[in-house]
Amino acid sequence: MSQSRLSQEDDRRSCWVCFASEEDDRTAAWVRPCRCRGTTKWVHQTCLQRWVDEKQKGNSTVKVACPQCNTEYTIIYPKLGPVVYVMDIIDRVIYKMCPFVAGGIFIGTVYWTMVTYGAVTVMQVLGHKEGLNVMEQADPLFLLIGLPTIPLMLVLGKMVRWEDYILRLWRKHSSKLPLINYLFPDEHSRLSRVPADTAPLTDPISATRVLCGALIMPTIATIVGKLMFGLVQSNFQRTLLGGIAFVAIKGVLKIYYKQQQYLRQANRIICDFDEPNQPSETPPSTPPQ
Ligand SMILES: [Zn+2]
Ligand SMILES: [Zn+2]
Repeated sequence: MSQSRLSQEDDRRSCWVCFASEEDDRTAAWVRPCRCRGTTKWVHQTCLQRWVDEKQKGNSTVKVACPQCNTEYTIIYPKLGPVVYVMDIIDRVIYKMCPFVAGGIFIGTVYWTMVTYGAVTVMQVLGHKEGLNVMEQADPLFLLIGLPTIPLMLVLGKMVRWEDYILRLWRKHSSKLPLINYLFPDEHSRLSRVPADTAPLTDPISATRVLCGALIMPTIATIVGKLMFGLVQSNFQRTLLGGIAFVAIKGVLKIYYKQQQYLRQANRIICDFDEPNQPSETPPSTPPQ
């Protein structure tokens, strides 16, 4: 069918991008790229190109569809030469692979950091020379698996909230122990309500706290071991004792702190709202001072 007949049939063409009709520009090329009916099915070729540009943002693999009827536009590209075709495929493969490669590099970095941390910890706990000796004599495969489990175990161990467990036991049974009753007189009888439990580890800040606490643990254990158990000859035993002592002391302090917070919350009182400037509706029962 001829161009003139077609334009007679749809003489009310109107571009849905620029709203121009056929009378506004007689030379512009028209296209009807989708299932839309009526005058809005028409759009200028150049206007639609701009629309596709905007959607594709330079990536010609992106599919573009009509915003009204959702028909995917059929876009034909000029044929590529073989060199460009191969380059196009390479480009696409690299584009798809990069996230995986980056993820692999990230995991590898974390892994080697963990191995290094494990090795440093072994030398710290056993002593520099002895630690090196142990690692030199060990199976390399054992080291590759064993060393990164050291920081992993420290973090997992740190996540065990044994203090909470003891606290819960304490709150349940402390009233039945006469000695504790004697040391902490009528603690539970003062409890006017049971406060809500604080949710552990919900925010990223407390997660970083767990991580930092876990990773600094061997250093603290070494220091506490040297301070408290200086007479112990073996590096390993001294550090182990130091670690246990530190965890125990810190645990007791934490339990004490948490219990005090718990009691504070349990016994809080919410006050009446007091606004002295506002005139009250009822006459005051007591004369103002
Ligand atoms: Zn237009
Ligand atoms: Zn459409």
